[in-house]
Amino acid sequence: MTATAGRLVSGATAEIVDGPDDICAPLCRVEEHPHCHEATVPERDRRALALVAAALGRPVGTGDRFVLDGMIRARLRAAYRDGAFEPACALCEWQPLCRDIAAGGYAGTLFRAADEPA
Ligand code: SF4
Repeated sequence: MTATAGRLVSGATAEIVDGPDDICAPLCRVEEHPHCHEATVPERDRRALALVAAALGRPVGTGDRFVLDGMIRARLRAAYRDGAFEPACALCEWQPLCRDIAAGGYAGTLFRAADEPA
């Protein structure tokens, strides 16, 4: 995860994919019942994609590629902090952790440029 976050912060292109991404896929290979294969996940992903598009003000779909620059990070983080992603995250077991991270201003997270406050 650290390496992936570092590449993205450095300007690597991200691609919207169906199913587990580069962060989740390694866990899916070693866990007996991976979270990403739960029946609720595709619907959650579909909702999340629609909400990301709304937060960015443009269509976003599978196969789209873009750089997660400071402006996009700020928009998505503000949207999450303000509850915009609640419809997609409602069934997720990680939601309390994600809410705490957002409420804390994303302090200590890996996905920030060198000139952003920690
Ligand atoms: S609560 Fe967090 S981990 Fe769960 S779907 Fe939402 S953003 Fe992802």
